[in-house]
Amino acid sequence: MATVAGVPVEPGHWIGGERTGSHATFGSVSPIDERPIAEVARGGAAEVDAAVAAARRAFPAWAATSREERARLLHAIADGVEKRIEELAQVETADNGALIRSHRRGVMPRVAHNFRFFADWLLQLGHADFETRGHTNHVSWDPAGVAALITPWNAPLMLATWKIAPALAAGDTVVLKPAEWTPLTASLLADITAEAGLPAGVFNVVQGYGAEVGGPLTAHPDVNRISFTGSVPTARAIAAAAAPHLTPLSLELGGKSPLIVFADADLDLAVDLAVEQYDNAGQVCLAATRLLVESSIADEFTDRFVAKASRLTQGDPREDTTDIGPQVHRRHFERVDGFVQRAKDAGARALIGGGPNDDLGGLYYRPTLFTDVPEGAEILRDEVFGPVLTLQTFDSESQAVSMTNGTDYGLAATVATGDPERARRVTERLVAGTVWVNCFFVRDLKAPFGGSRQSGVGREGGDWSFDFYCDLKNTVTAPWAK
Ligand code: NAD
Repeated sequence: MATVAGVPVEPGHWIGGERTGSHATFGSVSPIDERPIAEVARGGAAEVDAAVAAARRAFPAWAATSREERARLLHAIADGVEKRIEELAQVETADNGALIRSHRRGVMPRVAHNFRFFADWLLQLGHADFETRGHTNHVSWDPAGVAALITPWNAPLMLATWKIAPALAAGDTVVLKPAEWTPLTASLLADITAEAGLPAGVFNVVQGYGAEVGGPLTAHPDVNRISFTGSVPTARAIAAAAAPHLTPLSLELGGKSPLIVFADADLDLAVDLAVEQYDNAGQVCLAATRLLVESSIADEFTDRFVAKASRLTQGDPREDTTDIGPQVHRRHFERVDGFVQRAKDAGARALIGGGPNDDLGGLYYRPTLFTDVPEGAEILRDEVFGPVLTLQTFDSESQAVSMTNGTDYGLAATVATGDPERARRVTERLVAGTVWVNCFFVRDLKAPFGGSRQSGVGREGGDWSFDFYCDLKNTVTAPWAK
């Protein structure tokens, strides 16, 4: 048992309703000060086999459990999350370095909401029967089996429960593999599911590294669904592992999204939206990291942006006054710095930031804005996943659209304009899974969520989650003899 931020955390696997260890362990290190905070069980193929077998055994009874009872248990899990918001917030902040105030006020309440939303959605899931030449068509969402869920480190429990809740609601049993840099809140969630009365084997957690746990899990013949959130290279490996069994995949991947600011926009709002892109120290898949600004207002926008961004406070994420915490891990910090140094070498000019925060040391990276970036530079094409933005200008709607669509990604786009007609014209032409107009990060769980192009495959949210985690069936019945 480890104690993290005063909270006891059991750092083993959770398989078939029991804690188990492994011969080997790995250290979880806090990004706040790079000190080790827990030794976590390092699973492999044997633990994956055990977890999939436990999930498989639990599946028939869970699939046969009434919708009402499944929904009741999901609400009980949400109650457990709500009771432990402070503990979950403390442990998540220690493990991934994101702001405690966001975890307390936004993220952990949202974790509970994930369970409540899919519980309630399940109860109204359905499609009206319809007739074909007197025959009745009846559509049903049948539980699919064992769902393997693989998640990243930037919002560990939020992103995991965005998959766990609909998978359990759908009647699937689950094997979760959390990211190895942030394994701890998944362990706390396992305790919460047990306290809520979820039957053994319905929810399982295998801790460990990507290749060692994620590899065998995604290649497993007894896995019926794979939902993955993470990077494009890992998605390719997972798609290859899933190919022999044609296991259905949902892939939520990276982005290089824009914020398009037209001259007719409310400039205060546009600057606020732009500075918001440093949230979570820039480690947000949806972040609008490319600021595309109409030339006529570019100078004024830039001055206001620099003034506002310079007032952000960087520091310990446990302080309520901190706006930007550390990068998650030394390896990630160095990757971010590599992008920044190569951008400078290519001729880009850092208007703010441009390197580590030497006053703070450790994993604190200065919020950075580049201008004068040469066309085609890596920093305009590839996802950095850190507090690094670029600013480019455009002169027409068409140019803004072609700059937006000119990457391999298509996760999100944000448009700031005061003209509703322009908003309609422009948004129609954007390639993106989510488009925001004069707002950012407004997300309803009812909405489809996912990315186009290399930002992903498939959509989750509302009915789309149930479509993915279920086997849809249409039963056609001929008229009964009178
Ligand atoms: P990653 O791809 O390195 O790792 C994600 C998960 O995959 C981890 O749990 C890791 O252990 C596992 N993994 C690694 N190799 C594997 C393999 N061979 N087989 C199976 N699993 C394996 O990504 P990351 O660095 O943790 O996360 C950052 C990326 O996630 C960014 O690209 C970001 O844009 C993306 N992301 C996307 C969304 C979205 O909803 N679209 C949300 C958050 C993050």
